[in-house]
Amino acid sequence: MTDRGRIIVITGNGKGKTTAALGTAFRALGHGQKVCVIQFLKGQGKYGERIMAGKVENLDWFICGKGFVFNKENIDEDREVARLGFALAQEKIVSDLYDLVILDEITYLPHYDFLAVERIVELLHSKPKRLSVIMTGRDADPKLMELADTVSVIESLKHAYEQGIKAQKGIEF
Ligand code: ATP
Ligand code: MG
Repeated sequence: MTDRGRIIVITGNGKGKTTAALGTAFRALGHGQKVCVIQFLKGQGKYGERIMAGKVENLDWFICGKGFVFNKENIDEDREVARLGFALAQEKIVSDLYDLVILDEITYLPHYDFLAVERIVELLHSKPKRLSVIMTGRDADPKLMELADTVSVIESLKHAYEQGIKAQKGIEF
């Protein structure tokens, strides 16, 4: 019998949300499982994990965002990107091609009102039984946390950035 997939939320202000999700991807891939990563609201930066993703079998990686929402100028464009990203997430989740789907930074969609949280809840209710889904990002909606089997809130006690140390290759990107 196949295991029931898990729904996992990794949220909070501390560092380690995306990297924890990718650690799980690494683990699943080791067992020959198929993994899909969809990144919301991220720029086109040279993240090491994206460079690596292109060299890994059984891993499909999609980038839907175009940077964080810092100003309200391009809000319609952000909304459209979010909508397309969510449509892609729907397609990949119902495809039943994967054992694990990671929706990286998806918490920002309901947080910035780009998408009703109920749409995500609905999608998770309709997922294939075996599929596990990991959602990351700050300020996770309580409805996502309620639905999840596992919720981790990563707290920030300190971060090098606050001591004036700039983002470092291999650590932050
Ligand atoms: P990571 O990708 O390192 O696991 P994260 O997913 O927990 O971080 P995000 O908010 O997605 O956190 O991070 C965006 C960028 O900011 C990443 O380069 C991350 O390493 C860095 N970062 C994470 N937490 C903090 C923090 N508390 N202060 C400053 N920078 C942070
Ligand atoms: Mg992250």
